[in-house]
Amino acid sequence: MKAFYAQEQKRHDPRAFLSSGAAQPNPEKPERVERLLAGAKSAGYTIERPGNHGLGPVSAVHTPEYLDFLEHIFERWQRIDGASAEVIPNIHPIARNGSYPASAVGQAGYHMADTACPISGETWQSALWSAWSAVEAAETVMAGASGAYALCRPPGHHAFADVAGGFCFINNSAVAAQVLRRQAARVAILDVDLHHGNGTQGIFYARSDVLTVSLHADPVRFYPFFWGHADERGEGPGLGYNFNLPLPRKSADAAFLEALGVAFQRIRAFSPDVLVVALGLDAFEGDPFGGLSVTTPGFSRIGEAIAGLDLPTVIVQEGGYLCDELGDNLTAFLTGFGGKAR
Ligand SMILES: [Zn+2]
Repeated sequence: MKAFYAQEQKRHDPRAFLSSGAAQPNPEKPERVERLLAGAKSAGYTIERPGNHGLGPVSAVHTPEYLDFLEHIFERWQRIDGASAEVIPNIHPIARNGSYPASAVGQAGYHMADTACPISGETWQSALWSAWSAVEAAETVMAGASGAYALCRPPGHHAFADVAGGFCFINNSAVAAQVLRRQAARVAILDVDLHHGNGTQGIFYARSDVLTVSLHADPVRFYPFFWGHADERGEGPGLGYNFNLPLPRKSADAAFLEALGVAFQRIRAFSPDVLVVALGLDAFEGDPFGGLSVTTPGFSRIGEAIAGLDLPTVIVQEGGYLCDELGDNLTAFLTGFGGKAR
């Protein structure tokens, strides 16, 4: 099966990160790419470079105001006397129904949810190529492949239509889903990252053509805190098309697979034409975030279970941070996914 990745995706190298108020090295390191590439190759995937797909597929899920901000904010930030080396917000609107700020500092607070997504001179290009990897994987599946893997880095599922957050800038899973909508009447997104896919939920919250399902550590005491609760079910025409399955901290393979069965029931009832898997590997027991306790063989079983849905599937990389097993966990998932009836 094919995997997509472009070397420009590795250039983004965020430094700043606050954890419980303390400055820490940013965990979304370029080295993740090397581990994930090795993991995909071990699973027998061939790595191809995506084409340049322009802004069309990205602007289909993000506002032009936000994309203009992402492209130009670093240059503007550098003109501020004494500004930090990366764009980091220090003030946020408590509601976003006021006027749009004209200043770089105001716009950073408007378009960035937290301090975990610093923007440097490389960020825009890395995020664009990451999204184009997702576009290419979606087009590969539309052309008839049973599955394809997009090595998306930076990740995307915390990015809303006009807000970056949690290491994410462009929502690659949402971009893939929207590309798939060119052919498919109904697309389901299944997010198995440790963290709730709040940006993806937000983008499709009022829509009934894209079902969003997320399994994640219970946000009652975990990022992203304000989203991911079981009572968030969609709104307007999208009511009933968003499904959250928060799991108790340290839940292991059995609990995760049981919740996955519940997610499948909802996905089958939606009868999608195609599936997007937002594949975070940070639910791993040894991941630095330590939220859930899925094992390496557990990822293989998760991949196998998802293959059992028997849907054309676009796999989009989300989280999963540096630990010895990161590459092995991707290999386990992709091998489990590919091993059944494929
Ligand atoms: Zn995550």
